[in-house]
Amino acid sequence: MKEIRERRIVIDITNICHNQCSNCTRLIGNYPKNKLYSMDLDYFEKAIISVKDYPGIIGILGGEPTLHTEFIQICKIIRRHLPKNKVFLCTAKKIDLDFHYYHTIIHTFGKIFYDDKDNNSFDHQPILISSFELDPNIDPENIIRKCWNTETCGACITNRGAWFCEVAGSLSNLLDGPDGLDVIPGWWKLDYSHFRNNMNWACKNCGLSLDLGYRNPKEEIDDISPGIFEKIKKSSPKIKQKKYKIFEKKS
Ligand code: SF4
Ligand code: SF4
Repeated sequence: MKEIRERRIVIDITNICHNQCSNCTRLIGNYPKNKLYSMDLDYFEKAIISVKDYPGIIGILGGEPTLHTEFIQICKIIRRHLPKNKVFLCTAKKIDLDFHYYHTIIHTFGKIFYDDKDNNSFDHQPILISSFELDPNIDPENIIRKCWNTETCGACITNRGAWFCEVAGSLSNLLDGPDGLDVIPGWWKLDYSHFRNNMNWACKNCGLSLDLGYRNPKEEIDDISPGIFEKIKKSSPKIKQKKYKIFEKKS
C-alpha cells in the first residue's frame, strides 16, 4: 500500500454534477439539497496552501468542478499559489473555445482530463455496499490493504477536511460520518495511523475493495446494500428516481 505522500492529491471543490453516472465514486445523485456544496473560498485557499510543497501534482475535481459557483475565483486562488504545471483539472465538460471558462482554464491548469460518462472507458464498481454488512467480522485494516484505490487513486480534500482516500470523504458527507483531518500544511506527510479512525469508519461503509462486479456509468444505477439503503432512502434523489439496485448477498 502506497503512503499518502506517494499518491496524487485531489481537491473536490464541489459535489454538484450535471451527470448521475452509475456507482460514482463521489456518490453524485444521492445528496439532498442541504448536502450539496461549493467549497468556501477561504477554506479552498487554506487547502491549496496545505499542499503547496507537495512534490506531486494536485487535481481539481468534483462533482463537476466547473459548476462550482465561484469557479473563476477558485482559478485565481490556484494561480496565486501554484504554477500551472503542478495542477490538473478533471472535468466532464468539453473544454473547447466555446466553453465559457475556456481561457481561464487554459491559463490555470497544466493538464485537463476529460472524463464524461459518454467517453468513459471504465465501468464503475459499487461503492454503496457496506463491507461490514456483508461480513460483520471484517477487519478495516485488511480492507484498506486490499483496496486498489489506495494504489491507483489519491488522497483527497473535501469541504470537511483531508482524507486518506478519494471516496471516504464523500461517504462521510452522505452518511453523516466523521470529519477529515484539518487542512494544515503538510497533513499529507502523515502516515496512515493518523487516519485510523476515519479508515475504520469509511472502509466498513464502502464496497470498493470487494470484487462485486462493474456497471456501465451510462446506466445511472447505484448498487446499494440494504443497510445503506435504509439510511438514505428518504433523502436520496437517485433513490426517489428509482436509479438503484439493492445488492443481494449470495449465500
Ligand atoms: S461525471 Fe464524474 S462526478 Fe459526475 S456523476 Fe459521473 S463519475 Fe460522478
Ligand atoms: S473508503 Fe473505500 S475506497 Fe477508500 S480505502 Fe476504504 S475501501 Fe477503499
